[in-house]
Parts: sequence; C-alpha cells; structure tokens
Amino acid sequence: MTETSGRLSFRLWDGQMDYQAIFREAVDSLKNEKRYRIFADLERMADGLPYAWRYSPEGRHQVVVWCSNDYLGMSRHPEVIATLQETAARVGVGAGGTRNISGTSHAIVELERELAGLHGKDRALMFTSGFVSNDAAIGTIARLIPDCLILSDALNHASMIDGIRRSGAAKCIFRHNDVDHLEELLKEAGNARPKLIALESVYSMDGDIAPLAQVCDLAERYGAMIYLDEVHAVGLYGPTGAGVAERDQVADRIDVIEGTMAKAFGVFGGYIASSDAICDAVRSYASGFIFTTALPPALAAAARTSVRHVRRSGELRQRHQAQVARTKAVLSAAGLPVMPSVSHIVPVLVGDAALSKAATDLLLAEHGIYIQPINYPTVPRGTERLRITPSPFHSDDLIDGLCDALVAVW
Ligand code: PLP
Repeated sequence: MTETSGRLSFRLWDGQMDYQAIFREAVDSLKNEKRYRIFADLERMADGLPYAWRYSPEGRHQVVVWCSNDYLGMSRHPEVIATLQETAARVGVGAGGTRNISGTSHAIVELERELAGLHGKDRALMFTSGFVSNDAAIGTIARLIPDCLILSDALNHASMIDGIRRSGAAKCIFRHNDVDHLEELLKEAGNARPKLIALESVYSMDGDIAPLAQVCDLAERYGAMIYLDEVHAVGLYGPTGAGVAERDQVADRIDVIEGTMAKAFGVFGGYIASSDAICDAVRSYASGFIFTTALPPALAAAARTSVRHVRRSGELRQRHQAQVARTKAVLSAAGLPVMPSVSHIVPVLVGDAALSKAATDLLLAEHGIYIQPINYPTVPRGTERLRITPSPFHSDDLIDGLCDALVAVW
C-alpha cells in the first residue's frame, strides 16, 4: 500500500490492486480509534442463568453475563426448550422453503395469530429477524405510499434507517423524542402529504421511552401513520407484555407495531402486527419477506410457547423491574455515573472508547463479569458507556458483587 497526496492507494508495485490491503486498512482504522470489536466466546448455562462459560486461550472460566438481551431468561425456560425439541423431532429442523414455496408451517401460522392477539391487531407477519422486519416492512410500506414523507427519530435503529433508505421515500429527522420538533416538521409537510412517523418505544442504549400518546395526538392532527419499533419493550411492558403502547393504552392508535422474538421472548425472529391491508401488502411486496427461507417451525413453536407464557407472567415482569431498580439504586449510591434511564436498561457513562474497553477487560479478567462496551457508532463519540441489563435471575448478591467490581475498576 502506498500513499499518494493524502489518499491511500492500494496498488502493488506491479500496478495490480491489493484487495486484501483494502480490508486490512479498514479494520486498522477501527483499531486505531479503539472501536475494533472483540467477541466474547461464551456458552450460556441454561440451568444457571445468568452464568456462562467463557472460552479463551487460557481455558474455560465461569462468568456472570450482565449485558444479555434475553431480558427475562425465556431462552432457557423449560417449556420453551421442550416445545423446540418436540417440534423439531416431529417436523424436522429446516423450514423447507420460502413462505410461498412450502415454508408456511402451521407453527408460524399459530405464532402470527398469537402475536396479532397480543397487540390487538388484525394480523401479524413473521420475518427471520427484527432487523429484517424493519428493513423489509418500512421499506415496503413507505414505497407503496405515494409521495410518502418519513419522519424518523434521530436515534432510530440501523434496521429502521436501512428500511427508510430502501423505501426511496423522502425523509426528515426529528430531534430524539422531541415532539415540538416533530410537530414543526409535520406542519411544514402539510396535512395533504402522506406521512409516516417512524420511532422506537424503548431506546435501548439510553433507556429512555418515547412519549407515545403525544406522538399519536400529532399523527392524528396532521394525518400521519405511525410505525413503532417495540423490540426492547415487548414482553416487558404493559399488563400482558405487549409493550409500551399497551402500557400507555395507545396500541389501537398505532398503525404498525414491530417486535422481536429474540429479546424478552428469548427465541428468534421478528414481526410486524398491523391491519389486514398492510400485512397483506408487505407479505406480497417485501423482498425480505418473499425471497428467503421461512423461520424454522420449531423456533416458531418455541416462540409461541414463550409469548403465551410471558403474556400471563406479570410476576416475572415485576421481578425484572425490581432487580433493575435495585441495580440502579445500588450503583448510584456507590457514586457510579449511572445515566438517567426510565426503563430496564442501566447505562453507565464512561465517555471514552479506550477507557470503556479497558474497564470491561478488567471486569472480565479480575471479576468474572462480562459487559460489552458500547462505542461509536452505536452511541455518539464521548458518550461511550457500559450497558447493563439486569434480569430476574440476577440476585441481590450478584448486584452487590457487580457494584463492588465496578467501584474497584473505576
Ligand atoms: N430494532 C431495535 C431497536 C434493535 O435494537 C434491534 C436489535 O438489537 C433490532 C430492531 C433487530 O432485532 P433482531 O435482533 O431481532 O434482529
């Protein structure tokens, strides 16, 4: 690799492109910024959450996982595991095709029915992940609406941003959770123009929650549709775990609710719940739905078991919130910089990429505590943090141990 007038050239001495150097250089720039990601090689213990084995060149060591999105530990629930095993043994593992070509298993049909019921919508549509559901559904919905203007929260997830780009629709970005700014943009667009407001309920890096009722008021006043990502809320909020829209009693005012099976429900797959017309159109036009093999039926069946269990598990939700509140209180009392959060996410500010990596390395090496540092571009530079996600299985003793370790490391 040579440098010519400030720009890197990847030509070899004989004029050939050095393709490998392009990729090495791309990764090196992440390493220089201390943003290079190192994955922890883990094996979670189904009978001992939140513990896991960590594999490293030094061997296998037990760690406590403090950053999982398996918020309620449903991934290891005996009924969920039994359903997965029983269904796979009965119908096999792979789905066998796309939804159109032999991949619409009865288990998916039943799961979609369950999710439509959970959200009080006509219908639900499963995708192979929450990411794909946002990318495919926003991409299709906004493309089908003539002259659509998307109003997107500044902190929306990458999958929503990809969907917005895929749609080819015009977009305006409103300041995060700022309803005044959203109203300004809606007013500017005018009532006649078709508009789609795209936002999340729980923002998973800061732990704040969107003012849904006010957004619904605005949508009605200015004639906009609402697309709501409840990925970090389904299972956790509302009397039956249908999310913040259920908790705030606005689900019927929201056009599309999107969620995942992969976080509080502990399994895999994403979905939207909406009207017949919208689900039918997305099913018929979204390439991310049409041209990919369907979710394996055993996963769909396990997810349904999980949803059914979580819907009636108010106690599990309460225990989750209690351990979250205790974690926030104990860390704050110890003087740690816990960021304000009104949800189950406990972010602790470090403010520097190298330092947050150093802190998590020390936690792992000296305290057997696994927390992944959160760096740019997931969060803005200067707000690098540790993102802690207590579950109902993190006991009071574990919370105290986390606090002691954090204080020692700080
Ligand atoms: N939406 C949000 C807000 C997310 O944080 C994530 C993943 O972390 C997704 C969508 C994607 O969900 P999944 O992990 O099921 O692909």
